[in-house]
Amino acid sequence: MRWSVTIGSFKGTAVRIHVTFLLLLGWIGFEAYQRGGAIAARDSVLFIVAIFFCVILHEFGHILTARRYGIVSTEITLLPIGGVADMERMPDKPGQELLIALAGPAVNLVIAVGLILFLGAVDVSDVIKIGDPSVNLLKRLAAVNIFLAAFNLIPAFPMDGGRVLRAALSNWLGKERATRIAAQIGQGFAFLLGFAGLFGNPLLLFIAIFVYVAAAGEAQMTSMSEAARGLKAADAMETRIALIERGSTVREAIDILLATSQDEFPVVDASRRLSGFLSRSNIVEALRGSEPGAPIAPFMRREPATIGASDSIDAAMPKLTGGEAVGVIDADGRLLGLLTRQSLAEIMMIREARPDWRFAPRDDSPPTVA
Ligand SMILES: [Zn+2]
Repeated sequence: MRWSVTIGSFKGTAVRIHVTFLLLLGWIGFEAYQRGGAIAARDSVLFIVAIFFCVILHEFGHILTARRYGIVSTEITLLPIGGVADMERMPDKPGQELLIALAGPAVNLVIAVGLILFLGAVDVSDVIKIGDPSVNLLKRLAAVNIFLAAFNLIPAFPMDGGRVLRAALSNWLGKERATRIAAQIGQGFAFLLGFAGLFGNPLLLFIAIFVYVAAAGEAQMTSMSEAARGLKAADAMETRIALIERGSTVREAIDILLATSQDEFPVVDASRRLSGFLSRSNIVEALRGSEPGAPIAPFMRREPATIGASDSIDAAMPKLTGGEAVGVIDADGRLLGLLTRQSLAEIMMIREARPDWRFAPRDDSPPTVA
């Protein structure tokens, strides 16, 4: 996720903070300083660090539960509405997704109950005063954890409750319709939040935009993977593509750029093995930085993503939805075709028009170097 900084890692999962989360922290600290001076600001910062720690524990609730089903997360990003764990995939079994989703809010409830037991009793009227520095920090922390659990259980994407709702509806309606419903509720909720932001706290507007975009993204991601279900890479790949030879010059690359409307150009060696990708902007950058007769190869992106022709398209999904091109290769590592976001969009169009469309075996003649 862009606009975030890494602050550490635990058991192979990097913890990152998104800029909007820092803005939220800064805003709370600044407000405390204006109201009560340095001591209030110090207490607020302490309070913020404690909240921050609870949010991380919430995420590790998801991550450690997912790990029991063999799903690994390489990073957590903290956002104002909580954290987002970058799980490599979600389980297909709704029951497993349900447990993973519930594990986060459960951690907050355990913390809250633990704090309340430790404090003896908590006056309900105190618990509401989350922002009041005169109230005991631990009481406020208990309140925050109850809030975090409740907020995340709102039954809409991208909150955890959205996953709970989807898992519950999936059995009746199928995953795609269940996702669409949870995403629509999420977008409706984003509008309410944005509306509240217009008249109250402007930070809510930020959160509303994030919720809206994340809900739309989740719906799109699910309809893409539903459309691609059961397909092999060779079924969806583009085969009429222009390739650039590894030894080509900047001038030759420019000629190929002009001759096609391609966005990504595979760079291949003499035996058609993929060495990297050149995007349009890579080529333009080469034109700016070197002579027309200079080699183009130094400007390509190395270590290109690849997938076997008979592999399930699912494996390439995270890269494709992220906008990267993926090279389809045969058993000897030679390039057969290209998977892009466009190829996925085309598959979706075909499957929408004819859900039972059978993809005929494709012509195996390899793409030629333009
Ligand atoms: Zn969560």
